[in-house]
Amino acid sequence: MTTSRRTGTRRAEQTTSARRAPAVVSEPPPRPDKVPFDIDDVLARVREAVRDFADAAMFALAARGHDTVFEQLVACILSIRTLDEVSLPAALALFERAPTPEALARLSPQAIDERIRPVTFHEAKAHQLHAIAVRTRDAFGGTLPCDAQVLQSFKGVGPKCAHLALGIACGHEAISVDIHVHRVTNRWGYVKARSPEATMEALQAVLPRKYWVELNRLLVPFGKHVCTGARPRCSTCPVLRACRQVGVTNPR
Ligand code: SF4
Repeated sequence: MTTSRRTGTRRAEQTTSARRAPAVVSEPPPRPDKVPFDIDDVLARVREAVRDFADAAMFALAARGHDTVFEQLVACILSIRTLDEVSLPAALALFERAPTPEALARLSPQAIDERIRPVTFHEAKAHQLHAIAVRTRDAFGGTLPCDAQVLQSFKGVGPKCAHLALGIACGHEAISVDIHVHRVTNRWGYVKARSPEATMEALQAVLPRKYWVELNRLLVPFGKHVCTGARPRCSTCPVLRACRQVGVTNPR
């Protein structure tokens, strides 16, 4: 490697690490009007609150039998930047046409694209899914292993999808942080982190392992219906007495 390339690489690494928000685990901010934050109690209340809401897409698919690593990974890719109401039917339509990696690999990216068209970035995702299916067939004999490194070696697959797939399909203890989990846990004051990646690191340090998979299942519907992005429903929220409401300025 030439000196300038080395310098360029170092600069890129420095820029990346400077951009990366640090993970911060902190005591919830003191609030005399609040009870101590007890994660067991808070999650029990959230569990009750979301009982009648629809499961997040990947858990709903697992309940319908689509619970292999491959299916969960495909479903998670479809769900990126896409509402569950859109990604879930798209995943079901795709699995109906191509229920195995081999069957999906036999389809062209264009044929995959036709089935997932309502999904955001459908064209790019079609190519991505086709490539994953081909490699799953050719390199892994048609069965993806329960291995985070393998899953994250696929283009476009990060910790969020890899961890959720491994948690649901393999029973691995893994925290998956999407925008809902990030927003809610930071509003609670349970962690203090600027990005979903940093929140995941912070949660790994404080959250009891028994909740690592369930957290996503609970907080996705909770974030969609109660602790919403704009104007969270604090006045009727079951965890109001413990939540520090960090950054909440205009609640309902
Ligand atoms: S009290 Fe408000 S900010 Fe806290 S979890 Fe409930 S809805 Fe979210």
